[in-house]
Amino acid sequence: MEIATHPLDPAKRRPKPTDEKNLVFGRVFSDHMFMMDHTPDKGWHDARVVPYNPIAMDPAAMVLHYGQGIFEGLKAYRWKNDKVCTFRADQNWERFNRSATKLCMPEIDTAFQTKALETLLKVDRDWVPHHVGSSLYVRPTMIAIEPHLGVRPAHHYLYFIITGPVAAYYAEGFKPTKIYVTDEYIRSVRGGLGEAKTMANYAASLYAAEVAKKEGFTQVLWLDGVHRRYIEEVGTSNIFFRIGDELITPPLSGTILPGVTRNSVLQLARHWGFKCTEREITIDEVIDTAKSGTLKEMFATGTAAVISPVGEFSFKEEKHVVAGGEVGEWSQKLYDEILAIQYGERKDSFGWVRQLNI
Ligand SMILES: *Cc1c(COP(=O)(O)O)cnc(C)c1O
Repeated sequence: MEIATHPLDPAKRRPKPTDEKNLVFGRVFSDHMFMMDHTPDKGWHDARVVPYNPIAMDPAAMVLHYGQGIFEGLKAYRWKNDKVCTFRADQNWERFNRSATKLCMPEIDTAFQTKALETLLKVDRDWVPHHVGSSLYVRPTMIAIEPHLGVRPAHHYLYFIITGPVAAYYAEGFKPTKIYVTDEYIRSVRGGLGEAKTMANYAASLYAAEVAKKEGFTQVLWLDGVHRRYIEEVGTSNIFFRIGDELITPPLSGTILPGVTRNSVLQLARHWGFKCTEREITIDEVIDTAKSGTLKEMFATGTAAVISPVGEFSFKEEKHVVAGGEVGEWSQKLYDEILAIQYGERKDSFGWVRQLNI
């Protein structure tokens, strides 16, 4: 499919942020966006790059009522030699299609997803930050826009990609977070939508996150919905524990998001010879190991922050400090390695980075 490009009049392009190190996440957007439509008779069609603009939608658009919408989150990195690269984007494209299937939405050919991003970034290449650590955040999204109030999968979808420059999560070095463990609120249950990157999961997480914030915590650590004992995820990131010299993370059993960063951490740590185990782990076990001192590190993983060390967690009003509230050795090592690969500063032995043809 051909992609039509309708670039903005250069005089109307917005000024780029001057301080790339201090961008608030998700506030600044680039000049253009990619869009295309899907209907049963035409399939995906009318692929276009257009100026970033509000989208007009019928108030009966199905996404607004029944939440049929999915998205992805990845980044484009500008290297010192001015190449622009992505990190394991193929994993995002495939996950997007798995989310689509789960929400009864049409898939998009993965090679075409790359082509769409490249066509968009050809026009907005200047928006990719130059400062190492800063990057261009990419948000592919699909929504049901058919105006219809009967409950069923829609017959008209809109896919779009918007992008915007973001700073490194930790401009002044790591800041270990304080985590609130809840057995009261639930994010997802087996058989539900937990493994899809869909809007509803975020809606489900807001209330508990506000409760946690009011109490002075950064994030919520979710437990499973049935026993309310097994660890699932933290906020919108996956979670790892270093107990002794073993890295443990909950298995992908349908309730958690299969993070690209989670998978990268497992591959790297195994490559370095660290023992890694994907298994169920209860909050009781984590508390026991924190008390006995074998819980050496705890960290969250996700595209936005890469690695986010946990310095303290609290369950049923009882507080537990991890790694003395400092950044653990493995957290730092994993963070440094992944960042260096993303910016082309270290050998990419796994074939994770890909130069965009822009
Ligand atoms: C996106 C997301 C993650 C992290 O996935 P990455 O691919 O590593 O960015 C983890 N949990 C949830 C709920 C998410 O939506």
